[in-house]
Amino acid sequence: MARLLATIEHAVKKPIWDCRMCGQCVLHATGLTCPMTCPKSLRNGPCGGVREDGGCEVDPTMTCVWLKAYDRSEKMPGSWREEFDDLRPPVDNRLQGTSSWANLLSGRDKAVPAGWLPDEPSHGG
Ligand code: SF4
Repeated sequence: MARLLATIEHAVKKPIWDCRMCGQCVLHATGLTCPMTCPKSLRNGPCGGVREDGGCEVDPTMTCVWLKAYDRSEKMPGSWREEFDDLRPPVDNRLQGTSSWANLLSGRDKAVPAGWLPDEPSHGG
């Protein structure tokens, strides 16, 4: 069932958002711009390498994904606009290829690395 859901999700989202099946969809918080299309796969951006013309430092032929995400998020309604400003946790590569819909339903997409949440005890000493 999970495999079928992933297949359907990919078929729907690939043509529209160039979805890379990260398994933790944040499209609603990025102005419907897939952050995994950033050559650095940044979940928070932009990085410091944006060119003066808005081009990506890795691939100058493309506009910075995060500049597009910002512009688009300005047009999003309510909380979707506000969520652009949230700090997103690093992507969990163990979910690569799985359905973000299934992970949303199970809550698996909300699991974050140890030490990520501000009220967790520090392990760094
Ligand atoms: S954030 Fe992940 S699930 Fe969402 S469109 Fe991008 S790759 Fe696909």
